[in-house]
Amino acid sequence: MIIYTGGTIGMINNPDTQSLTPFDFEQILRHVPEIEKYGYKFSAVTIPPVVDSSNIKPATWIRIAEIIQEGYDNYDGFIILHGTDTMAFSASALSFMLEDLNKPVIFTGSQLPVSTLRTDARENLISTIEIAAADKDGRPMVPEVCIYFEFKLLRGNRTTKQNAEDFNAFHSPNYPPLAESGVHMRYHPERILSKPVHTDLKIHTQLDMNIAILKIFPGITENVVKAMLNSPGLKAVILETFGAGNAPTDPWFYRQLKEAADKGIIFLNITQCTQGRVEMGRYETSEHLLRAGVASGHDITPEAAVAKLMFLLGMGLAPEELKLLLNKPINGEITIL
Ligand code: ASP
Repeated sequence: MIIYTGGTIGMINNPDTQSLTPFDFEQILRHVPEIEKYGYKFSAVTIPPVVDSSNIKPATWIRIAEIIQEGYDNYDGFIILHGTDTMAFSASALSFMLEDLNKPVIFTGSQLPVSTLRTDARENLISTIEIAAADKDGRPMVPEVCIYFEFKLLRGNRTTKQNAEDFNAFHSPNYPPLAESGVHMRYHPERILSKPVHTDLKIHTQLDMNIAILKIFPGITENVVKAMLNSPGLKAVILETFGAGNAPTDPWFYRQLKEAADKGIIFLNITQCTQGRVEMGRYETSEHLLRAGVASGHDITPEAAVAKLMFLLGMGLAPEELKLLLNKPINGEITIL
């Protein structure tokens, strides 16, 4: 099943503004007629309105999850056509929302519209279809939520958009590709989540968006931190820290964090570095975060951190219980050392 949400892959130039604007699904198929050669049976569903992925909201994730659940028994795999800008957020969210998934759910899109001569859409779509249908001994090769882009299949919740120009738009800084496409499609089964065969898909559609990302920088002021931490309804904050999870040790900074934590706000420490991980306590400059009860994000991406918090908060857990789950991989999004 192909689920179309929008994105550059299906965009055309708006004749009035000349800006790229999402367009309908039919023209995508018209430009890639060769997919018929696979001989697979396809269905396509469009989630209206088709959007540039900057306009994707959690409501779209919920709709995708519902569509997958409705079609789960009738399809071998699911392909989500999606803009690249927020694809890593959507793939991360779906990885948490689809519990006991044992079929492929693969996001793809392109950097150039399918109608352009040098488009990357054709390769991305054709290979994604092949991977979504691939099985071995009757079992899907990749029963997880992934992103396929520019010859690489990456675990969705490990992926970040790294490039707004090159075709190689995505990378997975802390986890290697699940498959690579060259002359052969090379799968790496040892990196792919192994799932029980006979499980029913359960979808989680309760998400709580009352979170914020606080990216620290040298010179950040107390007023800014205070304003964010006192936002009405705020339940959790992703603290984007330096290096291995370090932050200023100014007494006001600790005080603001501690006061918020005492009110029940959850803090998740992730690093501003693209590679590596948070190791609180390694430096003096993270000891105070431990004392304030900040949870470690380990090697999680910012996108997966956002999705994981929305998902866990949506479960309505008590803060201590939620923090325990932040410390465990749910679907391969972190590695605990
Ligand atoms: N702005 C586009 C989007 O995210 C970019 C793309 O699809 O490549 O929808």
